[in-house]
Amino acid sequence: MEIEVTVQSQKEFDDAIQRYIESGYELESNTDGTAVLRKKGFKLWIFIVLLLFVIIGAILYYFLSDDNVVVLKRVSNSNHYYCRECGVSLTDDAKFCPKCGAPINWEDENDVSAQVTDDNAFKI
Ligand SMILES: [Zn+2]
Repeated sequence: MEIEVTVQSQKEFDDAIQRYIESGYELESNTDGTAVLRKKGFKLWIFIVLLLFVIIGAILYYFLSDDNVVVLKRVSNSNHYYCRECGVSLTDDAKFCPKCGAPINWEDENDVSAQVTDDNAFKI
């Protein structure tokens, strides 16, 4: 932005230069009754463009970033049995497989080690 100010006398000219310098302007040149004073201005559009770049960058980062996901499952080392016929998960008290109907013959329902060796169920 450039404005032109006209004054009528040398005193007004000197006073005006002094006022502009006091309000932050720097005297670039002063020759033949023409003074050029400059003050750094704030250009809003540059700020907006930079802000847009930051926002777009954040959005791109959000949508282009690739998450690494690990799903870790602990399989219980007791009370988890599967049907020998079809592999479906069995409950401790199952007498028959809920899916294929195969009979589950626990040797001893209260003895975990006995269940492991059972013919119709196996443990993992
Ligand atoms: Zn089954």
